[in-house]
Amino acid sequence: MQYRLIKKTGDEIFPLGFGAMRLPLKNGKIDRNKAKELIYHAINKGVNFIDTAYLYGDSETFLGEILKGEYADKVKICTKLPAINVRKYEDMEEILSEQLKRLQRDSIDYYLIHAVDSKAMNRLLKKDLIKFLNNARNEGKIRHIGFSYHGPKEEFPLLIDVYDWDVVMVQYNYFDENVQASIEGIEYAASKDMGIFVMEPLKGGILAGKMPSQAEEIFKKANPNKSNAQWAMEWVLNNRNITCVLSGMNSPEQLEENLEIAYKTTPMSMSFEDLETVEIVKRVMRDSLKINCSTCGYCMPCPRGVNIPECMKIYNEKFLFNHKGFINQSLMDYFQYVCGIMGNSGNAGKCNGCGKCLRKCPQKLDIISELKKVKKEFEFPGMKYILSFVRHIGFPLYRQLVKLLNR
Ligand code: SF4
Ligand code: SF4
Repeated sequence: MQYRLIKKTGDEIFPLGFGAMRLPLKNGKIDRNKAKELIYHAINKGVNFIDTAYLYGDSETFLGEILKGEYADKVKICTKLPAINVRKYEDMEEILSEQLKRLQRDSIDYYLIHAVDSKAMNRLLKKDLIKFLNNARNEGKIRHIGFSYHGPKEEFPLLIDVYDWDVVMVQYNYFDENVQASIEGIEYAASKDMGIFVMEPLKGGILAGKMPSQAEEIFKKANPNKSNAQWAMEWVLNNRNITCVLSGMNSPEQLEENLEIAYKTTPMSMSFEDLETVEIVKRVMRDSLKINCSTCGYCMPCPRGVNIPECMKIYNEKFLFNHKGFINQSLMDYFQYVCGIMGNSGNAGKCNGCGKCLRKCPQKLDIISELKKVKKEFEFPGMKYILSFVRHIGFPLYRQLVKLLNR
C-alpha cells in the first residue's frame, strides 16, 4: 500500500482522504450506522485522513462519536476554522474550543482556515490570526496548520507567503488546471515542502457523470473498462506534488472504486497515451465552449476586481454540462466563487469596460462583451442584497441552528 509523505510534517498519508461533508443521510440527518460502517471500512482498507469542517453540519460531532478506541489513532483529523464566522479574536478561540469538544480530542491534527482568498485572509490577519494559530499550536490544541483556498490564481502565492503553513487544500482537476490555486500554485506550495490536499477531483461529480458524448467516446475507445471518475482521479494522483484527493463518499460502491484507484495510481504512473487521451478530451470539451477562454488568467488582475477566468469558466460549464433549472449548479458556483458569499466578489457585473484586460488576452477575446453575457445569464436586480443577506444573516443563523441541534 502506498502512502505519500508530507515533508513539512513527516506524516505519511494514504492518497485517498475521506471527505466528511456528504455523509449518507436519513431523514435529513447523518445516517450514523451507515456512515460509521463506511468510515470504518475505509480506515480498515488504509484511509488515514478524514476531512471535516465546523460548517459541515453535524459532521464534527459525529466523527467525535465514532473515532474512539482502536480507531482514534488510526486517522489524522483535519477540520477548519470558518473565516466567515470570525468577527473578533475571541471568536477563533471559542470556535476552536467548541471543535475540540465536538471531536472529543485534545488536539486537532490538521487545522485549516476555511475557504479564504486574499480579502478574507487580510481580514483575519487584522484580527491577530497568526497570534491565535501560534498560541493554539504552542498549547498543543492544533498540530499542523494550513488553509483551504477559493480565490484567483494570482493571489494564491501571496497567501502561501503570509505564514509558515504546513499544508494547503485546493480545488484541482483536469478541467480546472489553470484556475484557483492552479498547477503553478501547486508547484509553488510543493517547493515549500507543504502537503497538498485536493478537493473537487471530480469537479463536484461532473467529471464522473454524463459528459459531452464526444468526450465519452474518446475515453471509452481508449479503455472501455475505465470509468470517467477513474480517468479524473488518476489524473490528479499522477501529480507527484499531490498528497491526497478528498472524496465525499456516501456509498460502499463509490468507496471501493476510489480505493482501487488509490491503490494503483502512484505518482507519474499514467502512461503517455493515457495522459494524451485526457488532453484530447479536454480539447474536445474546450472546443464546445461558448466562450473560447482557456482560463489562463493572463488578463488578471482586473482593477475592478472582476474574476474574469472564473466568470467565463462557470458560464461555459452551464452549457457544457447542460445545467438547467432556475437554481442550478452553475448559479450556485457563481454565487459561491465570484459573488463574494465566502470572500471577495469578482462578478461580471463589476466590469466598467475600462479595457485594461483586452490586450493581455492571448485568445483575443472581447472580454467586455463576454462578461456582459455572463452578467445577463447569472445576475439579476437585487442580487447584491440577497447575497449580503445570506452572508450576514443567513450564515450566522445557520451557525446558531447547528449549535442548537448539536446540544
Ligand atoms: S474591461 Fe472590465 S474586466 Fe477588463 S479590466 Fe476593465 S473592468 Fe476589468
Ligand atoms: S479571458 Fe483570455 S486572458 Fe483571460 S483567462 Fe480567458 S483566455 Fe485567458
